[in-house]
Amino acid sequence: MNGGILSIGECMVELAPLPGEGDYRMGYAGDTLNSAWYLRRLLPAAMPVSYFTAVGTDAVSDRMVDFLAQAGIGTDHVQRRADRTVGLYLIQLDRGERSFSYWRGQSAARTLAADGDRLDAALRDMGTAYFSGITLAILPEDGRARLLDRLAAFRARGGQVVFDPNLRPRLWQDTATMTRAVMQAAAVSDTVLPSHEDEAEWFGDADPAATATRYAHAGAAEVVIKNGPGPMLALSNGDSITVDPVKVAEVVDTTAAGDSFNAGYLAARTAGAAVADAMRLGATLAAEVIGTRGALMTPTTALPPNG
Ligand code: ADP
Repeated sequence: MNGGILSIGECMVELAPLPGEGDYRMGYAGDTLNSAWYLRRLLPAAMPVSYFTAVGTDAVSDRMVDFLAQAGIGTDHVQRRADRTVGLYLIQLDRGERSFSYWRGQSAARTLAADGDRLDAALRDMGTAYFSGITLAILPEDGRARLLDRLAAFRARGGQVVFDPNLRPRLWQDTATMTRAVMQAAAVSDTVLPSHEDEAEWFGDADPAATATRYAHAGAAEVVIKNGPGPMLALSNGDSITVDPVKVAEVVDTTAAGDSFNAGYLAARTAGAAVADAMRLGATLAAEVIGTRGALMTPTTALPPNG
């Protein structure tokens, strides 16, 4: 295993309802943070997992950074902004249905790519950079371009770039901007980890094979398509590989299914596993995560000994 993994994106404060009327529990979540959490749980301690983001200088930002550190996630590349704070979302339950309200429009994380030198410094000792379509969506246009530019340079130096398109049209000014930016990101990535349902809806792909071909043409050597309870498809250096997901007795909460799959897949690949074995590990972890309430849990899924 070489270098560490740098996950780039936004961690938010999560307020989740407790049984009591008007009571909420405070936690932390966000797609790239969820993946960092599971990467840390799976990989040996000697392999650094770091988070690249920006937070405020207030008490809640301090608590978030403490949370990351206690989770074993490196915080050396968390930037501080005195004029901003962290984003927040609130989960509401109405007869068992969850709905989400967000306050993240001015979050500090939107400035994470303001300084290219900081990106270069964070990537310097890393083997892999991991980011998502949500990371891109929260950035201003110049920040987005800067991030992709620095990732391309990192890749040219031998770094590995891994991208989950995580299509969230509500975070974008319009869907054309979203699909254009996602394809630009795929063009600087070695590995793309999309979800079939989203890709079919926003790119009009007829099936997972169409998604795989589109990202392979953009330049990704490895594309793995998640597919809810359906079979997953990988296209790896021209080879097609199909793997069934792991059966889940009871789907409790699908939050972080894709994020945890990505972490399982990436951890296994980093440890030298073959594509199909890495897909199985990702699916095993995702199945465990969706059998439990909430995004973050301590899984029993582990890498096999000796990679
Ligand atoms: P996302 O959460 O990004 O939308 P998916 O819904 O495709 O992604 O789920 C990611 C992975 O989680 C799937 O590829 C699969 O391994 C697992 N998964 C999701 N839903 C189920 C399910 N109902 N049964 C079994 N596995 C599932």
